[in-house]
Amino acid sequence: MSHIFPRHTAKQPPVAVGGEGCYLIDASGKRYLDASGGAAVSCLGHGDRTVIDAVKGQLDRLAFAHTGFFTSEPAEALADLLVENAPEGIDRVYLVSGGSEATEAAIKLARQYFVEKGEPQRGRLIARKQSYHGNTIGALSAGGNEWRRKQFGPLLLDVSHIDPCYEYRLRAEGEEAEAYGRRAADALEEELLRVGPETVMAFMAEPVVGATAGAVPPAPGYFRRIREICDRYGILLILDEVMCGMGRTGTLFACEQDGVRPDILCVAKGLGAGYQPIGAMLCSGAIYDAIANGSGFFQHGHTYIGHPTAAAAGHAVVSSILERGLVERCARQGEALRAALDARFGQHANVGDIRGRGLFLGLELVSDRATKAPFDPSRGIAGRIKAAAFEAGLICYPMSGTIDGRLGDHVLLAPPFIIEDAQIEELAEKLDGAIATALAA
Ligand code: PLP
Repeated sequence: MSHIFPRHTAKQPPVAVGGEGCYLIDASGKRYLDASGGAAVSCLGHGDRTVIDAVKGQLDRLAFAHTGFFTSEPAEALADLLVENAPEGIDRVYLVSGGSEATEAAIKLARQYFVEKGEPQRGRLIARKQSYHGNTIGALSAGGNEWRRKQFGPLLLDVSHIDPCYEYRLRAEGEEAEAYGRRAADALEEELLRVGPETVMAFMAEPVVGATAGAVPPAPGYFRRIREICDRYGILLILDEVMCGMGRTGTLFACEQDGVRPDILCVAKGLGAGYQPIGAMLCSGAIYDAIANGSGFFQHGHTYIGHPTAAAAGHAVVSSILERGLVERCARQGEALRAALDARFGQHANVGDIRGRGLFLGLELVSDRATKAPFDPSRGIAGRIKAAAFEAGLICYPMSGTIDGRLGDHVLLAPPFIIEDAQIEELAEKLDGAIATALAA
């Protein structure tokens, strides 16, 4: 009997023993095409020699030095590389061990910033109904899925959840995309006015929504309007690129495509590409200065922050992405994957929407294309697709999401940036089979 406490206790998963490029291999020798990079993690695929050698070299030199005493060469190098390539205004990098730690740090930094500035009444966060920001208490409070939050009620933070920017379901008939983008962003101003803008510290959002929605990009102009509203009421803009960042959407940072400048930016997943657990919270010089000129101490130290071996992995990953032209490759292969999905599912009776950017794409499943009616949740379509795909040797990321009780099933695809054309074909074919199996059940 296994002593592992698995995520889902009903079924012990197979034991993974190897990885080669876009494939994972289990103990029985079965190969799986990793079409979601786990959960948008394995951007370089499995077994990347450059990153493995960088980690091994760092272990030989120095595995660990506590950040209460030291910084380290790889941490310095990674911070430099991220800031050199980050959106304008980003100046400092706080290295952590994963996505939830990064978003939790962002929420706490926003709060501490206003306390240090003498505005302690600013304690509320505004986030969106369609979002996931992690599983620590602050991050969980920010996430939009009520079913995830409900057991932890008394512990949660003060967060308002506004409607997301979700063209497929929320853009009105005949409404221009730009007009919808502005209308969706104006929900932030309405909520600010409802709760009192002087009580709000920040707005948090994923530029392209990942796990909860299946790669939903913003409508044109949405984030520019959001930035204007944040500036008008003096609140911070926190962008969570834990899933969509590090080149996956076709630019190193997803928000570059929306011409928006965040105050705080979170990355993880693709930053370590699965070789080491690492995340980062990037922030503006102004926020850093408020802490530096105030208490001089950001109250978010964890033992493993700035871990040298993890930082060496992160540095090797980001250098590889930039030096090997993988951001451009991601955009190119994203178009190829999009074309393969359009060819197979463009007219499919139960695929209502195909969306996303770069190699971050999603399909939304519906029972009726014309009315966009979702499937009855009792059919568990997303779960069935995941199981059928896994059986066929395909790892994808189907989920059910809710906004105000409207349930949708979707499949998220986020394969490694090195995916080849033949593997894109294999992906589309296996996904087609898995959807057919799920619908027939
Ligand atoms: N933010 C987003 C957008 C995510 O998708 C996730 C994880 O899926 C997280 C934060 C949390 O990251 P982690 O699972 O590394 O804690």
